[in-house]
Amino acid sequence: MSVEQVSQVFNTILVLDFGSQYSHLITRRLREFNIYAEMLPCTQKIKDLTWKPTGVILSGGPYSVYAEDAPHVDPEVFNLDVPVLGICYGMQELAWLNGKQVARGEEREYGPSTLNVVDPSCPLFKNVDHSTVWMSHGDKLIALPDGFKVVATSDNSPFCGIAHESKPIYGLQFHPEVTHSAKGKDLLRNFAVDICKAEQNWTMENFIDTEIKRIRTLVGPTAEVIGAVSGGVDSTVAAKLMTEAIGDRFHAIMVDNGVLRLNEAENVKKNLIAGLKINLTVVDASDEFLDKLKGVTDPEKKRKIIGNTFIHVFEREAEKIKPKDGTDIEFLLQGTLYPDVIESISFKGPSQTIKTHHNVGGLLDNMKLKLIEPLRELFKDEVRHLGELLGIPHDLVWRHPFPGPGIAIRVLGEVTREQVQIARKADYIYIEEIRKAGLYNQISQAFACLLPVKSVGVMGDQRTYDQVIALRAIETTDFMTADWFPFPHEFLKKVAARIVNEVDGVARVTYDITSKPPATVEWE
Ligand code: GLN
Repeated sequence: MSVEQVSQVFNTILVLDFGSQYSHLITRRLREFNIYAEMLPCTQKIKDLTWKPTGVILSGGPYSVYAEDAPHVDPEVFNLDVPVLGICYGMQELAWLNGKQVARGEEREYGPSTLNVVDPSCPLFKNVDHSTVWMSHGDKLIALPDGFKVVATSDNSPFCGIAHESKPIYGLQFHPEVTHSAKGKDLLRNFAVDICKAEQNWTMENFIDTEIKRIRTLVGPTAEVIGAVSGGVDSTVAAKLMTEAIGDRFHAIMVDNGVLRLNEAENVKKNLIAGLKINLTVVDASDEFLDKLKGVTDPEKKRKIIGNTFIHVFEREAEKIKPKDGTDIEFLLQGTLYPDVIESISFKGPSQTIKTHHNVGGLLDNMKLKLIEPLRELFKDEVRHLGELLGIPHDLVWRHPFPGPGIAIRVLGEVTREQVQIARKADYIYIEEIRKAGLYNQISQAFACLLPVKSVGVMGDQRTYDQVIALRAIETTDFMTADWFPFPHEFLKKVAARIVNEVDGVARVTYDITSKPPATVEWE
């Protein structure tokens, strides 16, 4: 039986990415009003699609359509006979294909502008007239493309919105997908719902059923699946979904690498085995990890050691839980989310690796496993919603992210058992206080770091000479940029006092007030 893709089950708007930093937001917005949308690079050939889109959106992009090496859309898009919306570069592309009247403007237009709808009968502009729209372009249309009419203008753009005379093809000079365009969401909804007639059926309630069916078809009646869980949201949701689909033929493994949070392994056991009935084995490999980390201070080396040791331990454990009939485990579950997929398919040149990401990619080759990724189409908030529907406890579903290399990259310098214990205890107190103050859900990520510098203090008339804990808390929507969280002073005072009093080896507490960029979220 063939396995249906999500885009074959739900009506799907295709977003073709020309490399704009906002492209993923188009997909995001459409999902917000329950329409499934998928992004593919602008080089996608229509004949290679295994599904028919309900509508197509051409994104913005950093190039100029008239440049020799500029990317262009497969002309077959226009033979699909579905509505097309071009945004910024996307609109310039429409113009380029219909008369080539695009050129460099005298000046760049960046920032807000006011929309003036000249053709109120145009369904795209229903209820959006006179709203603020966000511009970001240097090129412009110098004439109306063949077969098009002007439907909206702005202060600086006589061709702010254009529409084809007879076909449902539209172009916008501004970016409706960014929140600075006040009614941009309405505009995208007008396109998707009114013009494309897309059904608003993309809900996690509907997704659960199709996904469970999909997993059952993919795995078949007898094969077994293995997967790592970390105690985090994604792996727990993926594991629970697998358990719903194939019961105990899914085997979860949690590797205690010795750098988890305080009491983490016990908590995961309690939540996943007793609570969620997941077939889980917890392996204590802390000594193995900590021994290998001895003497290592370089952050990239720490990450590599932890990644490689993880693969090693996981493979060893997988060998032990081979199916009884002697066959091999066939699939490996991975909790990949849509932003990772977007990251890998988006249209861009090679970008520099800032940090190596922790993943289990190596397992696939070594163990000859096939990959199963049930969350591949989902954004984080969709995963959380799915988790709640699957009965995963609220606190787990809304947990802050935690890095794969764990506390090893929150203990700066050498990672020893003693150092891990200090960082763990400080972190525990900090998070406990954040929860008590009711601030946990306002913060995107919070943690304590142990700095290997000694500082002089005084406690009970005694001179102390101990290390420093740095607290970090950030607010962000996408983790690409982030700002530090403005805690009330009283809160910081209380946490600092508790940490110095309760955690041996700490003489001083500081709060990190650096944003990302220039800093990263984690310290290493
Ligand atoms: N590069 C094109 C311009 O400068 C398109 C910009 C965009 O899509 N945001 O006009």
